[in-house]
Amino acid sequence: MISWSISTVLLTLLIVMVFVCRSLKTQLRREQTTTARLRTRLSDMRRELSEVNSRRKKLLSASTQALVIVEKDYTISSANKTAKRMFGKPARGTTLMAWTRQHQLQELVNQTLDGQKMPPVYFNLNDRGLQVNARPIKQKKEVVAVALGIHDVTELQYLSRARREFVANISHELRTPLASIQLLLETLLNGALQDKAMALKLVTKISGQVDTLRQLAQELMDLSLIESGQIPLKMAAHSLRTIAKTQVENLLPQAERKHLDLKIEIDEDVGVLVDETMIGRVIANLLHNAIKFTDKGTVIISAKLPNGTAPVPSTDPASLPDDDEEGRVVVSIADTGIGIPPDELPRIFERFYKVDHARTAKKSGTGLGLAIAKHIVEAHGGRIWAESGGQGTTFYFTVLTDTCCD
Ligand code: ADP
Repeated sequence: MISWSISTVLLTLLIVMVFVCRSLKTQLRREQTTTARLRTRLSDMRRELSEVNSRRKKLLSASTQALVIVEKDYTISSANKTAKRMFGKPARGTTLMAWTRQHQLQELVNQTLDGQKMPPVYFNLNDRGLQVNARPIKQKKEVVAVALGIHDVTELQYLSRARREFVANISHELRTPLASIQLLLETLLNGALQDKAMALKLVTKISGQVDTLRQLAQELMDLSLIESGQIPLKMAAHSLRTIAKTQVENLLPQAERKHLDLKIEIDEDVGVLVDETMIGRVIANLLHNAIKFTDKGTVIISAKLPNGTAPVPSTDPASLPDDDEEGRVVVSIADTGIGIPPDELPRIFERFYKVDHARTAKKSGTGLGLAIAKHIVEAHGGRIWAESGGQGTTFYFTVLTDTCCD
């Protein structure tokens, strides 16, 4: 009886153990499946994180702006290539102040960490103008770091200064003829109208001043169109001598009035690849100046071929950089006039620049002729420059030969 009972208990125990074992096995299998799923998820997340990181790094390095992240303890936790180029590579744990040595930046970060919305800050570094914007990086509504975007605004600052100077120059150029027209009109109204001879003299003067204003308006418009590339170049092969001859003939009466000798020293067969009207305009502007600023002597237009076979200008361009003028004709316009002081030579191509106003006060002009010539020559891919040794001036410019692109 007892042995039967023991057997029953043992059997029951065995059955229970089999059940427990089975259920444990099922649970283990379930746990294993869950672990495998979690492992896959983890590796997916790791991959996503590394992709995000690499994308973030690419984005930071592609930015032309310097991007820096400053932590709450002022250490630099991230800086892109542009930022490193500006301030050098930050050592691990370095602070913003130790790295940049810019108090304004430290102040900007302080205030941004305090939760203030700050306007951009400007500072200069190695002659460059920089603009810095700060943005807070928040975690659960608390500012934990500051992102700084540093932008090079040197060109923008230069452009806005140039625009201010341009407006100031235009007003200055307008003021003189307008004041003189007003004075002449007042003289007429105050009685000069009754004197026919005097009235005619004054009206002629008014007409001259109006002409100056008209020329200024025209040159401003031309300069703006040429600068913005709104006048497309009609490039074609032309005889340089023919282009020069047309301009010389137009200006011959002016030269004769001053008893100046106006000569062309260019061979018939010198061919150039240019926009005829535009290069004609350059030659006209240079010849016009040469006549205007010369009281005695000669004005010569000549050309030097790339192989140097054509006549060399009267002022030998020994300083010509031959290498980069390959395939180009060097055209020169030499005069025996008042010359240009060497220290003013680099500035004469700027808009409105006139050399020594006292000396050239009597010679009317807008100061735009050379700026226009420079734009046209550069649009042709050439260079323009001037040389002067006190007495006499020679202007040079380069154009492509018509054989350049065969
Ligand atoms: P402008 O209308 O005053 O002639 P430009 O731009 O043509 O303006 O010339 C700028 C300045 O350069 C002139 O005002 C003059 O002072 C100087 N300049 C230009 N060409 C000559 C030259 N051949 N000889 C002397 N000075 C010159």
